[in-house]
Formats: sequence, C-alpha cells, structure tokens
Amino acid sequence: MAKESFPDPIIAVDMGGSNLRVALFKDDTIVRYAKVPTPREGSGGEIYSEAVIDLIRSNLTADDIASAKALGVSVPGPYNPEKGELIHSPNLLFPVVPIKAPLENEFHKPVFVMNDCNCGVLGEVGIDGAGDHSDRNNVVYISMSTGIGCGVIADGRLLLGNTGNAGEVGHLFVDDVYSVRCSCGHTGHWEGYASGRGIPHFFRAYCRKNQIPMKCSAILPTAADIFAGIKEELKNTESGADSDAAGADGCGGFGVFAGFYEELSKVNARAVSSIIAAYSPAVIILDGSVAINNGELIIAGILKYIDKYLPTPEIRLSRLEGKAPLYGAAYNCALSLGRQQATEEK
Ligand SMILES: [Zn+2]
Repeated sequence: MAKESFPDPIIAVDMGGSNLRVALFKDDTIVRYAKVPTPREGSGGEIYSEAVIDLIRSNLTADDIASAKALGVSVPGPYNPEKGELIHSPNLLFPVVPIKAPLENEFHKPVFVMNDCNCGVLGEVGIDGAGDHSDRNNVVYISMSTGIGCGVIADGRLLLGNTGNAGEVGHLFVDDVYSVRCSCGHTGHWEGYASGRGIPHFFRAYCRKNQIPMKCSAILPTAADIFAGIKEELKNTESGADSDAAGADGCGGFGVFAGFYEELSKVNARAVSSIIAAYSPAVIILDGSVAINNGELIIAGILKYIDKYLPTPEIRLSRLEGKAPLYGAAYNCALSLGRQQATEEK
C-alpha cells in the first residue's frame, strides 16, 4: 500500500510480557510514545485491557484519541480472533485475556489485534519502503525473549495460518539428548532450550549430563548470568588467561560456559536450519531481549552449525530498538482499514 494512504493518526499498543507500550503514529512515524511495566498482579485477565486503557488515557491527549482512525494491538501469544481474546499466553498471568471488546467499548473505534511476531515482521518490513533492507518479500522475524516465536512474510504475503497464529517455531523439535521440558509440556522444543526462560534449565541439564558439579544448583543462574559466563570464558580463552579459574558465578569450573555455548549454538542452528528449509527467506531478523543482548554470540553460533543445504540468508538483529511489534500493530491497522475500504467500494 502507498505511504500516502496511511490513515493517520493511528494508536498502536504493544502488550509485552515486561512492558506495555503505546505510540501515536502520524505519516507512519511515531509522534508520541510511552511505556509502563506490564501488570504483575490482579484478579483476572481484564487487568491488561484496563492497564492499556489507562496507558492511552494518561499519555495521549483527548484530541489524539478522538482523531485516531483505529487502534492496533500487538499481543504476546496466541490470539483467538473469533472471541477477541488472548489465550494461554506464556507471558501473562491468566489463561484468557479479553482485548478487543473492552477496547472497542472504551474508545468506539476499530480495534485490530495481531500476535507480536506477526506484528514484528510487519513492523520490520514496513509499508512502502519504511523497511530498511532490499528483499522485503521473503523475511522471517524471530523473537527470542521469555518465549520464542516467529513471523513470516513469504512471496510478499504475511503467513497467518488457520487461526492467525502461524510461526510457533518455539515448538520445533531440536534435541533428544538433554530432553529439556518446554513451557507447552513437551520435551525437545527449541523454546525450552534457548528462550530466556529455557536457557537456565538447558544449562542445568547440560551440567547433569556432563557430570559437572553445579555449585549454584540450589538457585538456577539466569540467562544473563550464563551469557556473562560465556563471554568471560571466551574472552579469557582468546587472551590465554588462567584456565583454572572458576566459572563466572562459581558454577563447575573453567570451560563449562564455553562448552554449554557450543550446545546452545547447535540447538539454535537446528531450529534456524528448519526455518530456512521451510520458508527460504532472504533475510532472518532476530529480536527479543535474548537475541538483542547477545546478538554477536548467537548469530556466530548459528552460522557455525547451520545446515548448508539451502543458501544461508542474511541473519541480523532488529534495528527498531524493541519497537518492531509497535510499528507492526500500526501497519496492521492501515492494511486492515485499506482492505475494509476496498470491500466497501466493491
Ligand atoms: Zn513446546
């Protein structure tokens, strides 16, 4: 769609597991922006729509809200479009989170909801040149955060699937040696190994399998602790520093984190190889806190172990500073309103 047909202004909301963000878009550019922490307690799923309403009312003017043509929402996990509810999000406290009806009742304007990974890929690709890479027709956006998921644009079309939730690649099978359990209950799934929540459990399984005593086994190290250990060991290896030193947080001993990094890289490479085989993307964009904070390590590890069956696409980090889903929520409004208008004109 042409940039001049972006029906501004649009209000976009990104409901993340950690933060709720709101932005007002004009000419497909953010002119107002605010974020608050996602609610961590409450009595039911309605706490999230209440928090979103409060965020919008507190940060946008009455004129902004009145003039907005639509409200776009990016949600963290599977969305049921028939009921307008988020269901079984791994990032929220309640199994059912109503979104569409409470926001329509409050603001009396069209509300378009899409899951965060589909919003993410739409945000990266942009509308009419807003994206920053040459091949916008075949792109996979992978979010590696508390969970793992992806959004796919293939042959210029956003793949939605039967329920609008295609791209649940966190549940690709990647390993039967360590048998780490995923949040979905199955073992061997990528998300159970390489998400922010999974990495500590994979690390513990790695130590057990290799009979490495974990001094820190009473309290699992976080993913950030483990990446700090990997970085320190790789740096010491390069500089030839004392190899008898203990690991970064007293786990195991020197070499444990570097050894774990190899196993983590294999798992990441298996999943990315499957994604390449399935979608043949020109570009894979990594986003989410795990990828953004450790991008160089993660990409180097993937490239080391990736299958070379198909040509390896460009693999890079998102450059949208965590706002890809927010952009995508706005673009989804623009595209959905455009489709509605086209239908009405027929
Ligand atoms: Zn799973």
